[in-house]
Amino acid sequence: MSPAELPGLTITGLRECLRTRDVSPREVIEALRTRIEDVDPTIGAYLSIDFDAALKEAEKVDVDLPLGGVPIAIKDLINVRGQLCTCGSKILANYRAPYDATVVQKLRSAGAIPLGKTNMDEFAMGSSTENSAFKLTRNPWDISRVPGGSSGGSAAAVAADLAFGSLGTDTGGSVREPAAMCGVVGLKPTYGRVSRFGVTAFASSLDQVGPFAKTVRDCALLASAIAGVDPQDSTTLPADVPDYSRNLDVDLTRVRIGVPKEYLIGEALDEHVRTAINAAVEKLQSLGVEIVMLSLPHTEYAIATYYIIATAEASANLARFDGVRYGQRAENAHDIFEHYTRTRGEGLGAEVKRRVILGTYVLSSGYYDAYYARAQKVRELIRGDFANAFEKVDAIVSPTTPDIAFKFGERSADPLKMYLADIFTNAANLTGICGISVPCGFAQVEDRQLPIGLQLLGKALDEQRILQIAHAYEQATDWHKIAAPLSARR
Ligand code: GLN
Repeated sequence: MSPAELPGLTITGLRECLRTRDVSPREVIEALRTRIEDVDPTIGAYLSIDFDAALKEAEKVDVDLPLGGVPIAIKDLINVRGQLCTCGSKILANYRAPYDATVVQKLRSAGAIPLGKTNMDEFAMGSSTENSAFKLTRNPWDISRVPGGSSGGSAAAVAADLAFGSLGTDTGGSVREPAAMCGVVGLKPTYGRVSRFGVTAFASSLDQVGPFAKTVRDCALLASAIAGVDPQDSTTLPADVPDYSRNLDVDLTRVRIGVPKEYLIGEALDEHVRTAINAAVEKLQSLGVEIVMLSLPHTEYAIATYYIIATAEASANLARFDGVRYGQRAENAHDIFEHYTRTRGEGLGAEVKRRVILGTYVLSSGYYDAYYARAQKVRELIRGDFANAFEKVDAIVSPTTPDIAFKFGERSADPLKMYLADIFTNAANLTGICGISVPCGFAQVEDRQLPIGLQLLGKALDEQRILQIAHAYEQATDWHKIAAPLSARR
């Protein structure tokens, strides 16, 4: 295998080469470095990369471990000890993480090498990565378009073969949505399945770390590596972690999958997406799945509910960025009030400010009952919709996003339009269940193919099931074999 071909491998393929000693971990890092230096100036997936640290790790890593010698890119709000951790924000532009997040520690124990920190919307707020304070990330299928967000750097890195796999976070869709727009696989685990220790909090009742990869099998490998209870995060669930990649090949006859009628009506859904999803549902049927039409009656309230709860929690979580303990601080302030307002005024971007203001408002006395408390009640109703649905079906299928990747600037002037990108994803965060996006086709736009994602939602802790269904679907289709024009596989 030539060094130029190496970055095009899946994690599964790379492990094979490493185990048989066909390549060394050092050669892998070197090959990736060349590729990143060639292609990342165009894509902009990474914010920082410490190759020396990675090469040092490569020298001592045990290639017989489950991910032995596999470099993994990390979203820039997850701590990697000694490396920058900017959260895509000016306020943390020079902040270095003093310790490893549990997910990074777990990746290291599995033999993986954290390589590079990926671009993101500031504090994970956005759907296009355009809210990064530092740069744009471009979609490897069409560089005039966004990669999705907020984990756009992590998704684009995998699609462009600048990483074999990566980690992102999903608070309302930020793993699944960019996975769909970049044509890769992205998993949002059950709330509490994966530790958030060492991960900068956005909305604590919704946040979850999840992997990106080129195939479902690779995604399963990463999920098994990062999941599990953590004494450092009391919200983690004390449930055993299966080796998801071992139990992927199953027969789908007798599996029941629901199609929520609310997700397929209305003109918000792009025609390319609708056609691809209908074809995917037929494909699943041909694999023996029983399709059941169902209703999630409170769907229309999900976006509003999400944006009240997420902003409320964000306003509290982001109070810690006050220029005293972390990062940037305004110079020559006359008093403490000026110190706070100038530090935050200069350090935080427009979308983050909008959310802190909105979140503070919905929590303020006088409005708490009308907005925040009401949103919590609606959240319960949405949870009820899903509980009812999962009495009838094993999983739910839908589009991941209502639209394909859009052009830069198309939505950034209108926050409400941007918020609609989460319409099919954020209910999973509100209800704590798991979800995955897997490639299911392309929209032909001008001379471009733009990827479309199929979302499968599963019950809490039922990651194994949605991985199996996604894997069966992937194996029965060729979508994952078609690589982005800017990948190493063309
Ligand atoms: N797009 C959503 C938001 O802006 C989701 C972000 C996320 O999942 N981190 O809040």
